[in-house]
Amino acid sequence: MGEPKDETYEEELLDYEEEEDKAPDTNGAKVNGEATKKGYVGIHSSGFRDFLLKPELLRAIVDSGFEHPSEVQHECIPQAILGMDVICQAKSGMGKTAVFVLSTLQQIDPVPGQVSALVLCHTRELAYQICHEFERFSTYLPDLKVAVFYGGVNIKVHKDLLKNECPQIVVGTPGRILALAREKNLSLKNVRHFVLDECDKMLESLDMRKDVQDIFKLTPHDKQVMMFSATLSKEIRPVCKKFMQDPMEIYVDDEAKLTLHGLVQHYIKLKEEEKNRKLNDLLDALDFNQVVIFVKSVSRAAELDRLLIECNFPSICIHSGMSQEERLKRYRGFKEGHSRILVATDLVGRGIDIERVNIVINYDMPDSADTYLHRVGRAGRFGTKGLAITFVSCSSDVDVLNNVQSRFEIDIKQLPEQIDTSTYMPS
Ligand code: ADP
Repeated sequence: MGEPKDETYEEELLDYEEEEDKAPDTNGAKVNGEATKKGYVGIHSSGFRDFLLKPELLRAIVDSGFEHPSEVQHECIPQAILGMDVICQAKSGMGKTAVFVLSTLQQIDPVPGQVSALVLCHTRELAYQICHEFERFSTYLPDLKVAVFYGGVNIKVHKDLLKNECPQIVVGTPGRILALAREKNLSLKNVRHFVLDECDKMLESLDMRKDVQDIFKLTPHDKQVMMFSATLSKEIRPVCKKFMQDPMEIYVDDEAKLTLHGLVQHYIKLKEEEKNRKLNDLLDALDFNQVVIFVKSVSRAAELDRLLIECNFPSICIHSGMSQEERLKRYRGFKEGHSRILVATDLVGRGIDIERVNIVINYDMPDSADTYLHRVGRAGRFGTKGLAITFVSCSSDVDVLNNVQSRFEIDIKQLPEQIDTSTYMPS
């Protein structure tokens, strides 16, 4: 769209929004550093019954249509339900959420008025999604309440909720959780399970790490700590482990193997001013259920969305420049399939799970290889097929693309004239 580079790069630190995410699927599993197995799609042949979960949970699992645990679930759940600390890295889309949701629900004995589990993540959308997963799996546990707390919502609403209907499971973003805890509306002294999702993201930024530490200090010493991400660099692992006691370390994939099996990845070299035309052509030519188009700034998201709507494409956009209410409304609408095209910033680049998304387009190149991996992992969830197309328009874009290829050992080829739909459309 040729507009000048935008500086409004979102409120990264304050709200812990932006992010990157990576790719799903599993390969060689490593437990405590040792390679164990090489499942290709990473679905395990055992059943959830083998975990000896509460009947109420098994029933909800059946309702959700989960037949077999994924590799990461198979590796983690048996130990996690025993209360062990867990640090776990596995491709995105392989069901890490269910690991901590099921393990927590299995262990909790709800006490009215006491918060027993605290789950922190970096964006409101992700917090909302995690809360929803807790609700889904606790359908048959009527005494258990879950609530989600994040900024952008009147804090009084949260305070009243904590006073009148105190949940046993709290999901939230660090800023709001810390504010509620400091003002003594949220008591963390009975927390027995402490979970960090996208833990590398949460601990990399020192500001966010500080909030997490402050929250952590308000919880009892004796508790289970679980941390998850698709990307866990060697540098961040010791930082994570400082929060834990002798954790079980599960690295389902070698860093180099994190790319998704079902995902076809291509790039297109073009000039900045050719991007809109090309995008138009692609959206006309490609078959897709839903597509996410990533751009690098709030203003570019709004502008591209406007252009697409002008061209009669069913597009919406989500970015941190809009109200929380509006953001969630749009996110839910997209998740429910009301529009087929989402233009977004990295706000939805990590963790977000939208089943029907089978194409990701990087209209603007992500800022790093990690961000690339997280973004494209929005397509091809849980081993399904997908397509990622990245626009490359300047030398720094080329650098990131090269970095992605060497780091994750993939060969990303130029988009061919014709691309066979069956290679990226889930059957
Ligand atoms: P991750 O946290 O690893 O990125 P998610 O927890 O978001 O992945 O899971 C990705 C998708 O796979 C979700 O839609 C989830 O409901 C689904 N899923 C998770 N576990 C299973 C399973 N065992 N069987 C079928 N679907 C699953």
